[in-house]
Amino acid sequence: MDVQHYKDALLRKRGEILGSGGIKLQASMENNTRQGDMADQASGNNEVHIQLKLKQTDAKILQAIEEALWRIEKGTYGACRDCAEPIAEARLNAIPWTRVCIACKEKQNS
Ligand SMILES: [Zn+2]
Repeated sequence: MDVQHYKDALLRKRGEILGSGGIKLQASMENNTRQGDMADQASGNNEVHIQLKLKQTDAKILQAIEEALWRIEKGTYGACRDCAEPIAEARLNAIPWTRVCIACKEKQNS
């Protein structure tokens, strides 16, 4: 399998998601840090803030992309998380960050 092709697709999608809200994201982090210092808030708020700023679906996809990139590093990319069968390349081309094959996906939905 040509994982480099999927890696490119994953990185491109990640760039799209981060690019669409990247500047705002950075600004909110800076603001949040200053506010946090002044209000003496507990650490860990930054992460919550960022996730709220991202559209929820984007945050989920981003998470899945990170996991997919990690699987590429480990050499397990393209295998279904649930049944360990190879995921169809047509499915990977459509959704490179998918974790499960189409059969397991349908089982989840039912
Ligand atoms: Zn499966």
